[in-house]
Amino acid sequence: MTTNRTFTMIKPDAVAEGNSGAIIKMIEEAGFRIVALKKIQLTKERAGQFYAVHSERPFYDGLTTYMSSGPIIPMILEKDNAVADFRKLIGATNPAQAEEGTIRKLFAKSIEANAIHGSDSDENAKIEGDFFFAGVEQY
Ligand code: ADP
Ligand code: MG
Repeated sequence: MTTNRTFTMIKPDAVAEGNSGAIIKMIEEAGFRIVALKKIQLTKERAGQFYAVHSERPFYDGLTTYMSSGPIIPMILEKDNAVADFRKLIGATNPAQAEEGTIRKLFAKSIEANAIHGSDSDENAKIEGDFFFAGVEQY
C-alpha cells in the first residue's frame, strides 16, 4: 500500500442542505488528509467537460444541469490506498444499494443527487484534481 491521492467533490444537493461539515468530518475521521479544498459553482458547460466520459449516456444532460445548479466543494485528499478506500467510504452510486454507514447511504437523495464524487483510478484522480486546482493553487 502506498500513500496516494484521490479527488472528491461534495455535490450541490449535499452543500445546499448543509451537510458539507458532517461529510468533511467523516472524511477526516476515516484518515484522509485534505490537500486542497475550495467552494465554487460550475457552469453547465464546465460540468459537461468534467463528465465528458458520460456524454453519450441518457442521464448526461440531467447530470450536468444538476452539477451546475449550485456550489460544490472539490477537494484533493491523501491517504494510503486513497482511491479504493474513498470509494468504499462513499458507497455505491445508487444510494439504495449503498452500504450502511457510507456517505451516500447517509446523505444521497437519489442516483443522480448522490451527495459526493470519488475518482475511480489514480490516473483519473490526477486528471480530476488538476481540472479544479492546477494552474491556480500549489498542492
Ligand atoms: P460514480 O459517481 O459512482 O463513479 P458514475 O461514474 O457511473 O458513478 O456516474 C457519474 C455520476 O452520474 C453519478 O455519481 C451520478 O451523479 C450520475 N448518474 C450515474 N448513473 C445515473 C443514472 N442512471 N441516472 C441519473 N444519474 C446518474
Ligand atoms: Mg465515476
